[in-house]
Amino acid sequence: MSETVTNHHLIEGSSLHERSTRSGEGIWVWSDRLGLSGILDQLTREDGHWVITELKKGYLAEHQSDMVQLCALAICYEESYGETLDYGYIYYERTRRRLKVSFDASLRQSVDEAVEQMRELSAQTHYPPVTENPNKCQGCSVKEACQPGLFRKRRASWRVVGDG
Ligand code: SF4
Repeated sequence: MSETVTNHHLIEGSSLHERSTRSGEGIWVWSDRLGLSGILDQLTREDGHWVITELKKGYLAEHQSDMVQLCALAICYEESYGETLDYGYIYYERTRRRLKVSFDASLRQSVDEAVEQMRELSAQTHYPPVTENPNKCQGCSVKEACQPGLFRKRRASWRVVGDG
């Protein structure tokens, strides 16, 4: 699934990104240590500190994956600009509420572990199975390409093309 998949989730997400970029707050960040890069939706000043905010189109929820993603962006920002970020926000568009996330040692460790897991997965010749929790697929941006329903019905399998 290396190709870019365009669906309504990505289009809506792009709209959020465009809104933030138009306000002059889209900032590219990267980390050589993690091997990651990304774009900050918002970077603002709060009580004399820089704070990043990630925009999500769904409802307020404490998803660990969202927090790890935000912290990964924070680490990228820190490496790019040489400043430490203590916390950031995830803003949920549908409920217009935001979640404050502290970039503590535990969350930073989770980022390192997630990156390590990504490296291990990318080295495999088979894709991992679809998640056992169908709820996680509801807002997934690559659902149309992944087709988890078909996989669960065993009509499709995750194989790299050309792999025996
Ligand atoms: S659709 Fe579900 S199984 Fe497929 S990538 Fe998204 S979350 Fe994972």
